[in-house]
Amino acid sequence: MSQHSHDVLVIGEGVAGLTAARELARAGLKVATFEAQLFGGLVININELEPAPDARKVGGAELASELMQENGELGVESIQEEVISIRDGGDLKKVETAGTSYDGRALIIASGARLKKLGVPGEAELEGRGVSQCADCDGPMYQNVEVVVVGGGDSALQEALVLAKFCRKVYLVHRGGRFRAQPHFVEQVAAQPKIATVFNASIEMVDGSRMVEGVRVKHHDGRSQTIACAGVFAYIGLAPNGDFLPEEIARDADGFVTTAASLETALPGVYAIGAVRSGYKGLITDAVDEAQRAVRAIRARLMK
Ligand code: NAP
Repeated sequence: MSQHSHDVLVIGEGVAGLTAARELARAGLKVATFEAQLFGGLVININELEPAPDARKVGGAELASELMQENGELGVESIQEEVISIRDGGDLKKVETAGTSYDGRALIIASGARLKKLGVPGEAELEGRGVSQCADCDGPMYQNVEVVVVGGGDSALQEALVLAKFCRKVYLVHRGGRFRAQPHFVEQVAAQPKIATVFNASIEMVDGSRMVEGVRVKHHDGRSQTIACAGVFAYIGLAPNGDFLPEEIARDADGFVTTAASLETALPGVYAIGAVRSGYKGLITDAVDEAQRAVRAIRARLMK
């Protein structure tokens, strides 16, 4: 197994990881970032970030591309490999990919999270044939038809509003009796006549032979209903990307990494930021803020 050394290793090239890497490189540290898929993380498919991370209106892909370019110019090494494990080697933290081992004096876990699935019959079978989790990319294919969005948080309401620009009607199905999304999304949804809200209801199955034709909905008062639709978009929260983490890194009941106020995990010298972290508040500005806080802690640790 070949061996490589850096000051700081950053797992994940989403906005949190890329921002942390940039700030560390600006401070003169030798940094590597790891990404198994396309850089950008959760925001890559968001056409307009809200709130914007700076004064500009900017899309997720544009922001991530800018960070990648800046990092390249600052000498950050971008490693396109899947992290299989991390190990505590005392003063050196070890990251292993297939065939290569990397050492860092500090490590940042910024591996993000993925959208949860409904887990109902028909969902996996009709993936890409009406089942989608990208309103911005797939919305234009649903011109003048009816779709169902599931969830009651910021993602569901934001994406229902995106889909309402294209679709004839958007059913927003939520298991609760009120939305937990930010008030401005709730107000915009209430003011959008194309969105019909269905509270206290769960999706039982996605129906269709070749393409999505509808969803079966169970109302919590016992009624059942079939909503005819051409698309189903589930935004029911996030699951952390942490399969590679060792047991010593403590996590909450949902698998998100727990940290001290300094963002250090249970392993000294290993920090967690962004959507993989328990307590992350979810805005792009929070990702940037956490990156900066972790960088300050690492600089204090390494540059004494
Ligand atoms: P979330 O805030 O965790 O909300 C998930 C929603 O899905 C909740 O309404 C929840 O219902 C519902 N849900 C959970 N499991 C379900 C299931 N099995 N079946 C049906 N419904 C289920 O997730 P999110 O909306 O994806 O947001 C994730 C984070 O990103 C949040 O911190 C959010 O603020 C942030 N975000 C911010 C923006 C923005 O500011 N522009 C945009 C998108 C996301 P209950 O309410 O009943 O629990």
